[in-house]
Amino acid sequence: MKNTNTEDFNYARSLIEASLDPLVTISAEGKITDVNEASIKVTGCSREELINTNFSDYFTDPKKAQEGYLQVFEKGFVSDYRLTIKHKNGHLTDVVYNASVYRDDKGNVLGVFAAARDVTLQKWAIDLREANAELAIQNKEIEKRASELVVANKELAYQNKVKEKRAAELVIANKELAFQNTEKEKRAAELVIANKELAYQNKVKEKRAAELVIANKELAFQNTEKEKRAAELVIANKELAYQNKVKEKRAAELIIANKELAFQNTEKEKRAAEFAIANEELAYQNIKNTRQNLTNEKLKASNIDIKLDSQYSLSLIEASLDPLVTISSKGKITDMNEALTNVTGLTREELTDSDFLDYFTEPKKARDVYLEVFAKGSVADFPLTLRHKNGKLTDVLFNGSIYKDEKGNVDGIVIVARDVTEQKRAAKELTEAMLFAEMATLIAEEAKTKAEKDRLIAEDAVKAKQQFLSNMSHEIRTPMNAIIGFTKVLLKTDLTVKQKEYLRAIKVSGDALIVLINDILDLAKVDAGKMVFEQIPFKISLSISAMLHLFEPKIHEKNLKLTKVYDHRIPDVLLGDPVRLHQIIMNLVSNAVKFTIRGEIKVSTKLLHEDEHEATVEFSVSDSGIGIPDSKIETIFENFQQASSGTSRLYGGTGLGLAIVKQLVEPQGGSIRVTSKINEGTTFSFTLPFQKTKADALVEIELAEYDEDVSNVNVLVVEDIQLNQLLMRTLLDDFGFECDIAENGKIAIDKMQTKTYDLILMDLQMPEMNGFEATDYIRKTMNSDIPIIALTADVTTVDLAKCKAVGMDDYIAKPVDERILYSKMIGYIKKNSVNMESDASDGDNPIKDKCTDLQYLNTRTKSNPVLMMEMISLYLEQTPPLISAMNQSLLEKDWKTLQTAVHKMIPSFTIVGIHTDYVNIAKKVQELACTMQEIEDLPNLVKQLEKVCNQACLELLVDLENFKNTKHE
Ligand code: ADP
Repeated sequence: MKNTNTEDFNYARSLIEASLDPLVTISAEGKITDVNEASIKVTGCSREELINTNFSDYFTDPKKAQEGYLQVFEKGFVSDYRLTIKHKNGHLTDVVYNASVYRDDKGNVLGVFAAARDVTLQKWAIDLREANAELAIQNKEIEKRASELVVANKELAYQNKVKEKRAAELVIANKELAFQNTEKEKRAAELVIANKELAYQNKVKEKRAAELVIANKELAFQNTEKEKRAAELVIANKELAYQNKVKEKRAAELIIANKELAFQNTEKEKRAAEFAIANEELAYQNIKNTRQNLTNEKLKASNIDIKLDSQYSLSLIEASLDPLVTISSKGKITDMNEALTNVTGLTREELTDSDFLDYFTEPKKARDVYLEVFAKGSVADFPLTLRHKNGKLTDVLFNGSIYKDEKGNVDGIVIVARDVTEQKRAAKELTEAMLFAEMATLIAEEAKTKAEKDRLIAEDAVKAKQQFLSNMSHEIRTPMNAIIGFTKVLLKTDLTVKQKEYLRAIKVSGDALIVLINDILDLAKVDAGKMVFEQIPFKISLSISAMLHLFEPKIHEKNLKLTKVYDHRIPDVLLGDPVRLHQIIMNLVSNAVKFTIRGEIKVSTKLLHEDEHEATVEFSVSDSGIGIPDSKIETIFENFQQASSGTSRLYGGTGLGLAIVKQLVEPQGGSIRVTSKINEGTTFSFTLPFQKTKADALVEIELAEYDEDVSNVNVLVVEDIQLNQLLMRTLLDDFGFECDIAENGKIAIDKMQTKTYDLILMDLQMPEMNGFEATDYIRKTMNSDIPIIALTADVTTVDLAKCKAVGMDDYIAKPVDERILYSKMIGYIKKNSVNMESDASDGDNPIKDKCTDLQYLNTRTKSNPVLMMEMISLYLEQTPPLISAMNQSLLEKDWKTLQTAVHKMIPSFTIVGIHTDYVNIAKKVQELACTMQEIEDLPNLVKQLEKVCNQACLELLVDLENFKNTKHE
């Protein structure tokens, strides 16, 4: 038994050892208890090294090995358990384990027996199979690609052909481009001339300004001079007043002195008389001899009195400041006062007995006066001049009177010469000062007038420039609107690809021109200070998105990336001018797109500041374009400035955009700046403050789709310019609306009397009666609430306010966007038709007949359309000047011209089939004009002619258009 057992054991052992799969027994503790040769090979460890070590140590993933081992204990076995054995030298062997527990005789689990199969090769085989399958799939793919390539090649060949065609077309386009470039260069040259003119005008203005500055300085100087003189005059006046007072005082003193003198004279005479009496008495007494002594004593006392009296007079005379002198009848000085010695510079002794005439500058005159005193008894205030011995002159007023001796004989004269030198000097100075002041005032006034004149001239020049710019752009815009409008209309007709392309080129050029014209107009407005900003509630985010939307095709075309960053903290609705904001950002983005070849354009908004009332937003437009040189950054915001002289040639533009942007930002309280790096890009950023509001944003109009239900719409277009009339007619035709045209407000009102309309499109500027007046009449006098939409080329705040004020419902800016026009019209028509239904109005519209009839022309030209068109064109050409000549001559009572104008009209009436009634009216006008008098009927008849001619023109214009279209087909 034992033997057999041993044999069995050996046999089993050799089998185990012979197995190529690694076999191993593991104890319940996970230690290796036995291994075969294959296990030794696969681990690179000897049997001794392996026994009693942890079984899991020999795997790349010991944890998984451990788990597998535990599973065997749990389930009793495990099969196909994947593990990887790690050789001592690092070599790995993928194996699949099959393991089961083994037990002792009593069935107790002793450990685990695990057999591993090397599956490396097997794995390879699987990988190989999978790779084969993948290869097969790829082969199939390649075959598919090959067949696709065949198709693509065909497509390529086709595209090459198309490209060749395009290339040929491009050659034509290039020629067109070259032509446009020469045109542009021509324009640039014109601009250079305009710039030079501008520069010259600026210089003239500067010169004027400099002259003004000088004139102002002169004025200021003269004013100070005047003030100085005035101050001096005040002083002089004061001095004069003072001297007058002194003189008055002297005069008063003199009067007193004179009175005293007179008194003394009478006294003296009295005394003399008394003396005579006394003498007589004395004689008598002598004869009587009795009372002689007594009388003698009396006489003595009386003489003493006289002496005392004359001393008193003398001191008074001496005290006088005016020279006093007594002259004998022989003309010699007998006595004088101190003042005379002072004024002549001579002593009393020298003067006494000298000839008094010697001291006057005009002795002859003095002598005459002197004689006059003798003749008349006195002379007052005779002007003379005394000469001092040193030559100094004293102007005096000569007052003289005779004095007599006791017997009444004239003894001589007494003269008082009043010194008036000071008075005269002051008077002279006063006159001089006054004269000077007057002269200074005159000069100042003259300078002021000249300055004012210069200022007016300068202002006139600026005004004229602005007016010219504004008129020009208006004049250009009207035909441009028609060109763009008709181009749009034409684009909708059936055209060949080429025709379409050319038309698009026309439209693109037209659009560019309109932008330029608007720029110039804006600039003129800014210059004139007429740029007004609105304050309406709007949504910034919507505004920006809508604007960027416009650029998408262009950005796409140039393969650029557009990034929009919006700061959502910005209040949703703000108060501001969305149109101007739109214009600013549009200018900046348009530049960014223009000057960027690759990369991205980023438009961002950021809330900079916010308080209770206001939010300040920063907008920036960055690009990765060509950049602006440092040297140009400073001037880039000036009019007509471009970064390089080649800019215009390469990229177009005029250098006006940024100037306008700046003028739109700064007056709104904002600021703009730019940073740029050559060949890296440019960032323009600007800030704008906005008022906060609780109001809702004005709703942007939604564009309506064409509505089949809206039919039988009658529109009255009030518009004076024929091209625009035709354009509106074409657009309305497209909408399926009927339309009548009135070329001014008055005609519109006439038409409304005879026909009912659903809506009026009203131009604003028209002769005779403009849009505002017409609307006012329709609302107030006719009491009609027909929807009226204004058509305006120049959307200014003032105009819009006026539109509202007179009762217009809405406005549309020219060039008219037909979708907006349709949407707005439909809106009002639908609204009104609801009202109408409830009104249940009669709707009976008498339609006025046509006034022209082409039957005659048809017969005469044998229905030759070319001839007919020529005749109609001729009529259209010659009639308007005839109408205005007729009206003008009536106004000026120029009967001869009136006759001629009407005479020329008559034959054309027959040609275009105007009723003979009008021929008769014309003949009547001719007759009345012949009488060379103003006749009551005349204006009315002329008006009728004008009306029929205007209507004929309108009708024929339409006919002509129809002819042209017919000819096309
Ligand atoms: P325009 O573009 O009509 O010439 P602008 O006033 O808009 O006039 O711009 C003036 C000039 O500033 C441009 O001609 C160009 O040289 C430069 N410029 C403006 N924007 C950019 C920009 N984003 N990148 C590079 N250059 C610019």
